[in-house]
Amino acid sequence: MSKYIFVTGGVTSSLGKGIIAASLAKLLQSRGLNVTIQKFDPYINVDPGTLNPYEHGECYVTNDGAETDLDLGHYERYLNKPTSSANNVTTGKIYQTVINKERAGAYLGKTVQVIPHITDEIKRRFTLLEEEQPYDVIITEIGGTVGDIESLPYMEAIRQFRREKGAENTLVLHLTLIPYLNAAKELKTKPTQHSVKELLMTGIQPDVLICRTEHPLPKEIREKLALFCNVETGAVIEAIDADTIYDVPLLMLKEKLDKIVIKKLNIKTKNEPDLSVWKDFLGRLKNPTREVTIGLVGKYNELPDAYKSIYESFVHAGSVNECKVKIVPIHSESLIEDVARKLRGLDGILVAPGFGERGIIGKINAIEYVRTNNIPFFGICLGMQCAVVEFSKNVLKLSDAASSETNPHSTNLVIDLMEDQKAITNKGGTMRLGSYPCKITKGSLAHKIYGKLQIEERHRHRYEFNNKFLTSIEENGMKASGINPENNLVEIIEIPSHKFFIGVQFHPELRSTVENPHPIFIHFVKAALAYKFDN
Ligand code: GLN
Repeated sequence: MSKYIFVTGGVTSSLGKGIIAASLAKLLQSRGLNVTIQKFDPYINVDPGTLNPYEHGECYVTNDGAETDLDLGHYERYLNKPTSSANNVTTGKIYQTVINKERAGAYLGKTVQVIPHITDEIKRRFTLLEEEQPYDVIITEIGGTVGDIESLPYMEAIRQFRREKGAENTLVLHLTLIPYLNAAKELKTKPTQHSVKELLMTGIQPDVLICRTEHPLPKEIREKLALFCNVETGAVIEAIDADTIYDVPLLMLKEKLDKIVIKKLNIKTKNEPDLSVWKDFLGRLKNPTREVTIGLVGKYNELPDAYKSIYESFVHAGSVNECKVKIVPIHSESLIEDVARKLRGLDGILVAPGFGERGIIGKINAIEYVRTNNIPFFGICLGMQCAVVEFSKNVLKLSDAASSETNPHSTNLVIDLMEDQKAITNKGGTMRLGSYPCKITKGSLAHKIYGKLQIEERHRHRYEFNNKFLTSIEENGMKASGINPENNLVEIIEIPSHKFFIGVQFHPELRSTVENPHPIFIHFVKAALAYKFDN
């Protein structure tokens, strides 16, 4: 039977529950345990696929095509293991299941209620992953902050679950904030005391307190927290602000979080943690020998969470190249005029994924600039589509070339909806989602990058390269070097005469992990380094 760890948050949001959960999972995994992490989000959307990045940051996509919370990205980056749709549950999903069952007559004659029907469905979902494969430990992160009305059914479900499974099989880890009052020069424990009280009101006594802090936690503070919150002093863990999120597993190791958890859950493992690959990665990350500057052209640049996986992929690729990758966010709406001046000094440009019309012209202008100046270019999803539009406009001289997403009345829809997408009106989960195969052309840049001819990558889009234009585009020098073998859709484009120009219809950033950095990011950083050296 799996052991269950629940991670709750108190005092404020954004304390980094996902990173703490992923770090603990990494430590347990490094001791040879089979671990997975799931996220339960208390909002009513069925999934975050219909939320915009201002609400929810990036939408992460799993191999099986689920649109999920961005924390699943951290889980995969840390554990180097794919997650699936079962790793992210929302209140919307819970209610949808219960309501569908009610309509089907599953509760015939009964009043359907939050307790027990909703809490039963939450508990069923707690253990779903265990049915797929045996795990030693399943970590469940509960979104939101303790005390939120929305999270009450989850707290009640945890209380019941602990009662059923027993103290030896379940553990609650509560992450809170210890603010530092500059005027008093003091760390304050009161918000944490209140937050634990809030948790106690739902019938849950936390076993471990993880305290986010800007300053080290002295012994007296730990003792005070232990006394007031009824936990062991050793189970008060300092989570001090770190230079990088990748430091956190080592900081947690130093605080002996893994040991405490193993002891409390009575887990049998003789192994000491083996973090050699992780430490190697960190060593290279922290001691770069050179630096490149990459422009990230997108429309959410005030919001780094919107491009979370792209930023992290550059961290991984930078470490491989022993190179600091400085990302300069460039707002696509600002690239209407004076483009050359605004893009000066960059060693490479990545044009980001996105939806809708806003910022499209700036993306196309940026691509024209890098294409004609031989500056390394990497386009992801919408970025690839914009590269095809730019090439069609400026090289094929199709002045109204466009994607039907932005200009459905154009006579040259070089990017268009697939037939089977045209009849779809529902927005939730109806894009081309998840992992698809792609066949790579021998001798292409893509071949050099991947070192193989058959790959699988994750998708999230409705529009596609329009194969009606394939011949004329290829005759003019842009090649389709990656094709879906099942339906001939173009997945990768490149310009062989250019130093480094690649656009991909899929999302490579969703597959980059610490132990398995993505090859396109690695080679893009290499190309940027070469460009910098030459110029
Ligand atoms: N909006 C484009 C499409 O739906 C691209 C999506 C994306 O960049 N993820 O095809």
